[in-house]
Amino acid sequence: MAKVIYHNDIQEEVLKGKKIAVIGYGSQGHAHAQNLKESGFDVVVGVRQGKSWDQAIEDGHDVRSAFEAAQAADIIMMLVPDELQPAVYKESIEKNLETGNALVFAHGFNVHFNQISPPSNVDVFLVAPKGPGHLVRRTFTEGAGVPALFGIYQDVSGTAKEVALAYAKGIGAGRAGILETTFQEETETDLFGEQAVLCGGLTSLVKAGFETLTEAGYQPEVAYFECMHELKLIVDLMYEDGLEGMRYSISDTAQWGDFVSGPRVVNDETKARMKEVLEDIQNGAFAKGWILENQANRPQFNAINAKETNHQIETVGRELRELMPFVKQGKKNQSAEEVI
Ligand code: NDP
Ligand code: MG
Ligand code: MG
Repeated sequence: MAKVIYHNDIQEEVLKGKKIAVIGYGSQGHAHAQNLKESGFDVVVGVRQGKSWDQAIEDGHDVRSAFEAAQAADIIMMLVPDELQPAVYKESIEKNLETGNALVFAHGFNVHFNQISPPSNVDVFLVAPKGPGHLVRRTFTEGAGVPALFGIYQDVSGTAKEVALAYAKGIGAGRAGILETTFQEETETDLFGEQAVLCGGLTSLVKAGFETLTEAGYQPEVAYFECMHELKLIVDLMYEDGLEGMRYSISDTAQWGDFVSGPRVVNDETKARMKEVLEDIQNGAFAKGWILENQANRPQFNAINAKETNHQIETVGRELRELMPFVKQGKKNQSAEEVI
C-alpha cells in the first residue's frame, strides 16, 4: 500500500516564520487562507477588488493585490481559476519570485501542460485537496479534514517536501491522509476523475436515468427523488463503508438489481469510452481544447451551461428543494461557484 502520511507525522516548524500568499479567495482560496491562519501560520491574501476582496477583509485577513501579496511572501499558492493562472502569473507573480521562494499549486494543469514555466531558482510543488474547497473549510472547523496529494516538481531549497507537508497539515489534510504524487499523475487523474466519474459521468448518468423515467410517462418529481435526491444518501453510505457497506443497507432486491443491471448500463463499451477520455487527457487534446475555448471567450461552455440550467431535472429539482430547506444547510457560507 502507498505510504499515507498523517497529522502527527509532520513537523510544521519549517513553515513557521514564512509568509504564505494565498492568491485567490474562491472555493479553495478561502479555505486555505482561513485554515492556515487558524493553524498558526502567517497568511496574506492576494486578490483583485471585488466580492472576494470584500469577503477576505470580512474574514479578517491581510488583503492586498496579487502582486503585493506575492512580493511580500515566501510561499505563493496559486488559487485563481486554472484558465486565468497564466495571465495572473505573468502579471503579478513572476517578477516577485525570489531565490528560495516556493510557488505552489492545488492542481498541476498549468505546469504539466506548459502554460506556466517556473524559473529554476524556486521550489515548485503542489498540494491538491481531494475535495471541494468548501469542504476543506467545513471539515477543518469540525476537527476533520479532506485528504490531499502533494507532489514536488522542483526542490531548490532542499526542504520542498517538508514545506509541502507542513502546508498540507496546515489546511487540515493530515487528519484525513496525505499521499505523494507527481504533477503528471495528479493532473491526469484529477481531470479523469472529474470528467468520467465524479462530475461528467455522474451528471450524465443521473440525467439519462431521469429522462428514461419521464419519457416513459412517470412523474418528474418521482424521477427526481429516485435519480438525484437519493443519490446523496447512497453515496454517503459508500463514503462511510465502501460498496459493501452501501449494499448492506439496501434491500437484497436492490442489491440483486445492482449486480445484474448495473453492468448492463455501465459496460465494456462505457469503459472503452473512458479509455478514450483518458487518452485525450494524456495526449493533451483535452487541455488544448479547453485553452482554446477560453481564448474564444467560452462560446460552447456558455451555450451548454445555459441549456443545462433549463433541463427539466433542474427546474423540478429547484421547486422540490425549496420545500426541503434542510438540504441546503450544508451550503451556508458557500459562494455560488463550487467545482472540484
Ligand atoms: P474559484 O473560481 O473558486 O476562485 C477563484 C478566485 O480567484 C476568486 O477569489 C477570484 O476573485 C480570484 N481571481 C480571479 N481572477 C483574479 C485575478 N486576475 N487576480 C486576483 N484574483 C483573481 O477557484 P477554485 O478555488 O475552484 O480553483 C483554484 C485552484 O484550485 C485551481 O487550480 C483548481 O484546479 C484547484 N482546485 C480546486 C478545487 C475546488 O474545490 N474548487 C479542488 C482542488 C483543486 P473574484 O471574486 O475577484 O473573481
Ligand atoms: Mg479534483
Ligand atoms: Mg480538478
